[in-house]
Amino acid sequence: MTRLAATLLLTAILATPALSQTRRPPGAEYQGKAFEFRRAAPGVYLAVGTGVLSAESNAVIIEGDRDLLVVDSETSPAAAWALLRELRAVTPKPVRTLVITHFHYDHAHGTQSFPAGVEIIGTEFTRRMLAEGKSMSHATAAGNRTFSNAQVSNLTKALDTATTPASRRDIEARRAVWQRYLESIATLTPVAPTMTVASRITLSRGGRDIVILHPGPAHTAGDLVVWLPKERILVTGDLLQPNLPYMGDGFFPQWADAIDSLRALGPTMVLPGHGDAITDLAVVERQRDYLRDIYAQTAALKKEGHPAEEVAKRLDLSRYDAYYPRFPGWTDEMVVRRRLGTVRRIFDQLDGK
Ligand SMILES: [Zn+2]
Repeated sequence: MTRLAATLLLTAILATPALSQTRRPPGAEYQGKAFEFRRAAPGVYLAVGTGVLSAESNAVIIEGDRDLLVVDSETSPAAAWALLRELRAVTPKPVRTLVITHFHYDHAHGTQSFPAGVEIIGTEFTRRMLAEGKSMSHATAAGNRTFSNAQVSNLTKALDTATTPASRRDIEARRAVWQRYLESIATLTPVAPTMTVASRITLSRGGRDIVILHPGPAHTAGDLVVWLPKERILVTGDLLQPNLPYMGDGFFPQWADAIDSLRALGPTMVLPGHGDAITDLAVVERQRDYLRDIYAQTAALKKEGHPAEEVAKRLDLSRYDAYYPRFPGWTDEMVVRRRLGTVRRIFDQLDGK
């Protein structure tokens, strides 16, 4: 290769879109910072939304010697764009790899804001859910759209009764978060994974090994987790959380077995898809026990002939109450209704559906 050809090639590489940010998308107008980057280890950050944009899930940033790997793409194209913009103040290295832990909207609906050329890694199941538009029509995404529209109209009504300029400003700011979210998802065209992982791959990035693995059916049929063996950090998406995850797509009892297999890796820190970093590993065992318990109780009550509605009422999970406090204002009835979704899921599995 001539020196000129080499220079032209280098120029072409440097000009590749993977190194530059996409244009500001609709819904990404905001003041201040949308993310806080919490340092978990040298070159490893947990990105947590501040609330100025709807950024429901965490992202994790892992630095290699020359580039970055991001775990999860945020809730919307706007939130993903803000994440990538603010990330530049943390490290100038370009993002080359994005791992999607699973297809739920709050983890997978920001993919289109990652520059072309970024390798997007997921399971085959996640790839299909995104490529076939099923992540957008799924109950979780549709439910959040309905909820966001309701928030906008409730806050608009609340403006009528606001008595002070300060309370008006507060309501308007909260409404703007939901409006921006809706504006952003109106442009939603999720980009599906460009590479799929069936069980396990290891990426070597300078001095750092990054293991991407599928521990079997768990929170969904196709979860990936990221394991940093040297740092003993496990990035889990929604498979493991400090609070109870959504279980409507879960696999019982395999989810608990998947947690056991991840526990056997010996992590000292878990970076979850929601909430703060977990260093008290009792949290891990507690979630595993809860999953086994709700499964065993549901199976036993079903065997006695109770319908799902009755099972949801009869479940006794009070030993977990202190660890999984209910949302403020939630009634017993609301707790039972939320459990009903999980019970129905377990019924389907027991019936072989
Ligand atoms: Zn999820």
